[in-house]
Amino acid sequence: MNLADHLALSAARRGERTAIVCGEQTWTYAALDAASARVAGMLTRGGVVPGGRVAVMLPNVPEFAALYYGALRAGAVVVPMNPLLKEREIAYYLGDSGAGVLFAASTVADEAIAGARESGARVIVVEPGSFAVSLADEEPLAQVVERAGEDTAVILYTSGTTGRPKGAELTHDNLILNADLTVRTLLNLTSDDVVFGGLPLFHTFGQTCALNTTIMAGATIALLPRFTAQGALEVIESQRVTVFAGVPTMYSALLAVPDHRRYDTSSLRVCISGGAALPVEVLHRFEDEFSCIILEGYGLSETSPVAAFNHPDRLRKPGSIGTAVEGVRLRVVGLDGEDVPCGEVGEIAVQGHNIMKGYWKRPDATAEAIRNGWFLTGDMGTIDADGCYSIVDRKKDLIIRGGFNIYPREVEEVLYEHPAVAEAAVIGVPHAELGEEVAAVVALTSPGAATPDELRDFVKSQLAAYKYPREVHIVQQLPKGPTGKILKREIRTGLASAHDAA
Ligand code: AMP
Repeated sequence: MNLADHLALSAARRGERTAIVCGEQTWTYAALDAASARVAGMLTRGGVVPGGRVAVMLPNVPEFAALYYGALRAGAVVVPMNPLLKEREIAYYLGDSGAGVLFAASTVADEAIAGARESGARVIVVEPGSFAVSLADEEPLAQVVERAGEDTAVILYTSGTTGRPKGAELTHDNLILNADLTVRTLLNLTSDDVVFGGLPLFHTFGQTCALNTTIMAGATIALLPRFTAQGALEVIESQRVTVFAGVPTMYSALLAVPDHRRYDTSSLRVCISGGAALPVEVLHRFEDEFSCIILEGYGLSETSPVAAFNHPDRLRKPGSIGTAVEGVRLRVVGLDGEDVPCGEVGEIAVQGHNIMKGYWKRPDATAEAIRNGWFLTGDMGTIDADGCYSIVDRKKDLIIRGGFNIYPREVEEVLYEHPAVAEAAVIGVPHAELGEEVAAVVALTSPGAATPDELRDFVKSQLAAYKYPREVHIVQQLPKGPTGKILKREIRTGLASAHDAA
């Protein structure tokens, strides 16, 4: 099946139901399907053949879905791009993917046109709000173009563990199976559900867990073009959102809204967290204050993304990523590639229907990442006696201080337990004798709520002496990527220049 068949099926079953709401706009399944058929017609007549790449650079607006499923319907491969990309990055993505067409939101048209100059990709400017009307004269492509399960559906650019962004090639089977198991076994999603669409749709988490799951279940997605905690609360209340999908910083942001109880969030029945470690303290506080459970899952762009999850009907362990999902296996391996004993730290490896085909045009990088059929994630973790996995940290974030290994996450978890801490990141900074020293960068719940010394002493009282941060920096907010993940790379560069200046 083509992933786009699922939109056609939902439209055939429940054409008049709402597929997408976004501000004042409401798109029914019939409208979304019709728009995607016109996009497919336009692309086919414009010379896009099955397997051809079509780039889409839009914020979370309904048109994203029309273009995404429209390109898939034509048999093309979608290359979603962050609308914040600049000219040279756009040029790189277009050149690397060989996309012949770039759909760009009118708000980013200048950057897109400049970025497309080198590769000669055709830029089609999309005016959110009136694009569907402008499609009215396009002849729709009546049928969804047939694709094999192993054909590539989407190329997702990801930094992976090293180097320039690489394109993870995800097949129709990868995406269909991952969305399907999320619908059935993790969320029990039905057509009555309203899913929060505040995670960026160009990223794997929002794309599979919010958009594709919604379309497959014939449910409704409530889009939020730019995430703010206040905006999210308004959408939850006004649209009666039942399923919230977010990264950990979204949960801390919701908690930080001083009058969040003013909003009626009683429609929420389940929240899912992924993309980064959810501090246990944040999970408990959120569950208490919002009276809704959070199920934490784990995955990567390369794993479509869901690989492990705290299943709703199985043992749920806060701080863990639960067990492997249906049809997927996880292992914890040592440097020799063998399984490490229960409780010991090793690299998480994944096998199953969710593993990407490979990195686009990068056979060497693919061979390095997928060994003997196992995808090496670059994340370090453990498995316990109940078969639950926990991520201790990314391999590359490990701090080695005077020969001792320190996983920043352990220190961050303690910092989050301090009532004055809203967000925390722990990193290693260069040190002449020790190799690395532990530093923490913290955003407080309110100005002056704690001093660096208090926070340092708090961690010191809870952990072995070599682990507590010798440096604690208080900042207004931590730098975050487009999905809301805390960017340790930027924190490292910021601290390095502060050290140089000192
Ligand atoms: P991306 O490909 O952008 O989705 O990033 C994937 C990375 O996010 C993984 O390699 C992990 O480092 C991180 N990640 C995802 N889920 C979790 C989780 N539940 N706990 C800790 N890290 C996570």
